[in-house]
Amino acid sequence: MHIEVRNLDKHFGNFHAVKDVSFDIEKGQLIGLLGPSGGGKTSILRMLAGLEQPDSGEILFHGQRVNELAPQERGIGFVFQSYALFKHMTVFDNIAFGLQVKKVAKSAIKERVMELVELTGLKGFEGRYPHQLSGGQRQRVAFARALAPEPQLLLLDEPFAAIDAKIRQELRSWLRELIERVGITSIFVTHDQDEAIEVADEIMIISEGRLEQKGSPWDIYREPRTPFVASFIGQSTLVDNPSELRGFETEVLGSQAKALIRPEYIEIGSERDFTLLSATSVGVVKHVHFRGSEWLVDVEVGGNVLTTFRSLEKETLEIGQEIRVLVHRAYLYNEERSWIVENP
Ligand code: ATP
Repeated sequence: MHIEVRNLDKHFGNFHAVKDVSFDIEKGQLIGLLGPSGGGKTSILRMLAGLEQPDSGEILFHGQRVNELAPQERGIGFVFQSYALFKHMTVFDNIAFGLQVKKVAKSAIKERVMELVELTGLKGFEGRYPHQLSGGQRQRVAFARALAPEPQLLLLDEPFAAIDAKIRQELRSWLRELIERVGITSIFVTHDQDEAIEVADEIMIISEGRLEQKGSPWDIYREPRTPFVASFIGQSTLVDNPSELRGFETEVLGSQAKALIRPEYIEIGSERDFTLLSATSVGVVKHVHFRGSEWLVDVEVGGNVLTTFRSLEKETLEIGQEIRVLVHRAYLYNEERSWIVENP
């Protein structure tokens, strides 16, 4: 289902929870709503579901306005963090529930449930009760139950949050495959950036009620539009005086600009390590931490401390040692705009 959201706004009392949010989702995409706690992710999901009314703005499914439709009229399936399965019902009956409510014929229900049991890897568990299942299995039942009435949109609110790390990892790949096979448009809320990056076709970064950026995980990582996005996705160092770095001088940038630089965009070494010395700055080694697979190095350049990695094979660095620093690329931000600068 193609989804359009136009200028969605929501207050709870005086609190402005969702601020003028607009986006489009293509049919069949798996979208991650990612951001810190309290940012408004669940509120957006609940408005899509019809569980909450927006103050203003429009929601369109297939180009049709659905603001006035009740949740059960929107063709949506839900999976929540807590399993919310019916405890007194078997796996079969849990999955069949939505179809029974719709008064689907018994034989058709059986066929559909068996299809879903197969699809979600629960074959042989049909007769069990929720307490006889592991957390991961219960959550798979929740998916099967949500998919049974053939919804056009699947909404997932932190579906794996209550599951331990190892199983959560397995469930992520499982979810990716499931959504691809079913081909259903899906939106999931998470505050876990690894989960969003790994699972989603596109991520929407939500902070303080605003949609900061929407794009593929790779595009967002490579071209974060705001300092918040750059610091939320991946690692980066905030630099107050980028003009002190070679290649990022003030004339080009304006004096107000701040920079965010990822560790992998920084190269350090001795003079002989660089062919174009004029592109490098002089820095001083401040700290070196052992990280197992590499060193994590803090280097001071013109009052800025930059963090980078260094492989274990390279010669040992001494604290206080002078070193050359090449910054390949940085995200620059000032009040008005943001841009990316590459150092030749
Ligand atoms: P989390 O990851 O913690 O669930 P979130 O990004 O999903 O956070 P929301 O649950 O959408 O955030 O909440 C956004 C803000 O709106 C929060 O400050 C929350 O306290 C507030 N809020 C949400 N629902 C209500 C409500 N029914 N009444 C009052 N305030 C609410």
